[in-house]
Amino acid sequence: MAGMMAAVAAARTGTGVLLVERWGFLGGSATAGAVGQFVGWETAAGRQVIQGLAEEVVRRLERHGGSGGHTHFVMSTGHPMDQVSYDPERLKLVLDEMAAEAGVRLLFHATVLNVTRAGAAIDTVAVLTKAGPLAIRPRMVIDASGDLDVLARAGAGFLPLEPDEAPQPATMMFRFGPVDFARFGALTGEELRALCRQGVESGALARAALHQSRIPGTNDGWFNISRVSLDATDPFAVSAGEIEGRRQAFAAAGFLTAHVPGCEGGRLVALAAQLGIRESRRVRGELVLTADDLRAERRFPDAIAVGAYPMDIHPAKGTGLHFETLGGDRSYEIPYRCLLPAGLDNALVAGRGISASHGAHASTRVMPTIMAIGQAAGTAAALACAGHGDTRQVDAVQLRQRLRQDGAFLPT
Ligand SMILES: Cc1cc2nc3c(=O)[nH]c(=O)nc-3n(C[C@H](O)[C@H](O)[C@H](O)COP(=O)(O)OP(=O)(O)OC[C@H]3O[C@@H](n4cnc5c(N)ncnc54)[C@H](O)[C@@H]3O)c2cc1C
Repeated sequence: MAGMMAAVAAARTGTGVLLVERWGFLGGSATAGAVGQFVGWETAAGRQVIQGLAEEVVRRLERHGGSGGHTHFVMSTGHPMDQVSYDPERLKLVLDEMAAEAGVRLLFHATVLNVTRAGAAIDTVAVLTKAGPLAIRPRMVIDASGDLDVLARAGAGFLPLEPDEAPQPATMMFRFGPVDFARFGALTGEELRALCRQGVESGALARAALHQSRIPGTNDGWFNISRVSLDATDPFAVSAGEIEGRRQAFAAAGFLTAHVPGCEGGRLVALAAQLGIRESRRVRGELVLTADDLRAERRFPDAIAVGAYPMDIHPAKGTGLHFETLGGDRSYEIPYRCLLPAGLDNALVAGRGISASHGAHASTRVMPTIMAIGQAAGTAAALACAGHGDTRQVDAVQLRQRLRQDGAFLPT
């Protein structure tokens, strides 16, 4: 979603954009990973801090019958949460439509192969296609691959994990239904906790939650209740993780059918096309956003997006959730410098790999926030193309002005 918003934002300025994608559709975790809900639009007090292209996606989904718009639900931790649930298939359609209208050129089924540099600039990005390798010579590169595969091959630096940190686990989302949502939704917190305990103790649930988002217009839900700890940049670990994710999904679905009120008539209908990756590489940028910056609501002169989602860490080991809400009407700012890979002149990062600590990433990673970051990255890349050709020379005042004109939310 970050790369897509970046591509649309840049293309709408008239800049030529090629979007390279390994699947045959857009959306990444939102579609291939079937996450099924955008969360983190609002402060705990209910003030919306994400607008712009992200909000346009919601409006278009509504028009296509792919979402009922903004709602709220209660987390397994007891926290209230804002939400836009959506149908991943209709999201694919919306993204095709937005790309076509903006004039984004799409190259599907293409995987990053290697990258060459000329000093501090990325010179070529070679991708592997059905027709063999294809060399692209971009003026600007936005790495929105989640795992930052382009920057890794360009020799960029990444942030290490602290000794007490581990990457958040991956999840194999699965579609289950039909569900009697009236009965399922009527379960009390105590009943849900007892069911989760039972599921975990029996080995059927890797996560102590029955978290799902209902697919608009259906009696099915996308369930988010498996957990696979892995290094998502290790291809053999990912291969094993896909298999383990499927195993866990079927075990959890069996538990739902056998034990959970409202789910007796349901079965696993579909698996996500890929394991959903929460965390892998985070770039070493010009500035590293930290958890304390979020807690202190630190302001930045080059802020390009605002976030308000709690720091939400699925631990690599265990079945619980570490959830730290900012509380009240609190929000934080994301500076442009977090999108700038140290030592590179013509590159930007959009999405979950921006320069943020493990703790800050636990908040910035959600889709409304990464869509806002994507819009900013695309706008900045277009300004850099029109100017000095250097992403570090982009004037933050001009960038912020342009983002506001385009509907993004940025406090003055
Ligand atoms: C299981 C799970 C549940 C989540 N729950 C929620 C939730 O409820 N609400 C919410 O808002 N957020 C949620 N998140 C977080 C959110 O979904 C992700 O952080 C976010 O979607 C990441 O978006 P991105 O654009 O940065 O990267 P990605 O979605 O990972 O997109 C990267 C894109 O690059 C492509 N790509 C990758 N490598 C290559 C390559 N080498 N060559 C070519 N193309 C490549 C991919 O196919 C993909 O399209 C969840 C995440 C997971 C994994």
